[in-house]
Amino acid sequence: MPIRSNTRSIGETAEAVPATASRILIAEDDPVLRRMLEALLVKSGYDVVSVSDGLQALRVLEGEGAPSLAVLDWVMPGLEGPQVCQRIRQRSDRPYIYILLLTALTQKGNVLQGLESGADDYLTKPFDAQELRARVRVGLRILSLQQSLISAREELRFQATHDALTGLFNRGAVLESIHRERSRQVREGGTLGVILADLDHFKQVNDTYGHLLGDAVLKEAARRMSGCVRPYDTVGRYGGEEFLIVAPTADATGSLSLAERMRETIAASPIVTSAGEVRVTASFGVAASDPTESIAADSLLLRVDDALYRAKELGRNRCEMASNPVASRSSATSAQLAPEPTR
Ligand SMILES: [Mg+2]
Repeated sequence: MPIRSNTRSIGETAEAVPATASRILIAEDDPVLRRMLEALLVKSGYDVVSVSDGLQALRVLEGEGAPSLAVLDWVMPGLEGPQVCQRIRQRSDRPYIYILLLTALTQKGNVLQGLESGADDYLTKPFDAQELRARVRVGLRILSLQQSLISAREELRFQATHDALTGLFNRGAVLESIHRERSRQVREGGTLGVILADLDHFKQVNDTYGHLLGDAVLKEAARRMSGCVRPYDTVGRYGGEEFLIVAPTADATGSLSLAERMRETIAASPIVTSAGEVRVTASFGVAASDPTESIAADSLLLRVDDALYRAKELGRNRCEMASNPVASRSSATSAQLAPEPTR
């Protein structure tokens, strides 16, 4: 028996609910009952897919754009309703499917067995049309609530790893990236570029124009730098006006030219703000580690910090490559890098 699908929009376009929220699968081997269910749910505005056995049901529910709600008959050829439930619940990598079991078996033990198999609700045959519609609505409401929770969780995850002002990765996330990429380099070889950028005399921008405008400048500088990197590079806000860039596979030349591109992009044109145009420049410390040296991620950070310090000393608005090994300097005694107050 071919799979039938009636495409009709339910008119629900709430953003949190995926387009598949109103798709419903009916699996019922009794042709009369199947058509009745179809007619009922199509009339209620749902997009209905119907099949006549458990194997087809499983195929639809595991396929692309699977319905998020299924009405499964208990006794069917191929796989029985509870077996389909079990198979679906074994997969945690897929969006949740709300399952309503249809059964003529009214004994309490059977109902429990159905729920144990992973069904969310059940309906005994012969069923009442009103009750079926109400239970389907309950299922869709639960799915919608679940979708809102997932969206909220994703939003929280984003907030936990991103800087609220610039939208870049935050300090914790970019530091994690440098450690991760360094581990990858140890495993797989290749080079790893790290760049530390600092806006020049940024304190003056804040003092002259105020912090709101300073924020606008930071956002635009972040946007310009992000536009220079490759998709697999990480740009993060390291501290106030400091940015850390992790460039996997970039060697010394590549890292330096990436930093130079960012420097030029920031200096090229003034940043337009509500209080007029503000000219800013940035200084860059650049380091690249080759696979033969054993250097901890923290030492790479010390190297770029040292190079940045030199870029500042040599007049700012420039990129300096870290000397290798790093020239020790009194302030660089620990991996906890404090920004220089005079930057
Ligand atoms: Mg049946």
